[in-house]
Amino acid sequence: MSIARFWRETPRRYNLGGSKCTVCGTVYFPPRAVCPECTSHRQSIERMVPFQLSGEGEVISYTVVHDAAEGFDMQVPYALGLVRTPEGPVLTGQIVDIEPGEVRIGLKVRATFRKLREEGASGVIHYGYKFTPLDDSGVLPPARGPVGPVPGKDAPRAERSPA
Ligand SMILES: [Zn+2]
Repeated sequence: MSIARFWRETPRRYNLGGSKCTVCGTVYFPPRAVCPECTSHRQSIERMVPFQLSGEGEVISYTVVHDAAEGFDMQVPYALGLVRTPEGPVLTGQIVDIEPGEVRIGLKVRATFRKLREEGASGVIHYGYKFTPLDDSGVLPPARGPVGPVPGKDAPRAERSPA
């Protein structure tokens, strides 16, 4: 399947479809039609094949963003990271489901598809990948909801009601 056809059939925003040079084995995301790694680019023409990234990777750099870009439905502050994939390409994306202050170099993450932003009047919703921590990375994802009684908040109702 040609790369052009691959893209028509597989919307880019919904997966991590890159391309791989069958001459030297280099993987690209976003995909390329020729391989800049090969000494002669002509060598790689017609030798690039679609390649699906696993979506897993490791944070190699990150920054904490305090000002959200207009139109982006993001909670600030948030962490924006550079993630090196085992396949080779380095991806940029928001790191979610973790406190920005807990993000660190070496954190293992996995790409997940989330709503990125919504255009006000048109209501067009953009999706893209973000990264969430992997459980085995040593950093636990935040609890998703109450984990137990909170003193002063979840006091047993019986204590406040006459018997
Ligand atoms: Zn190549």
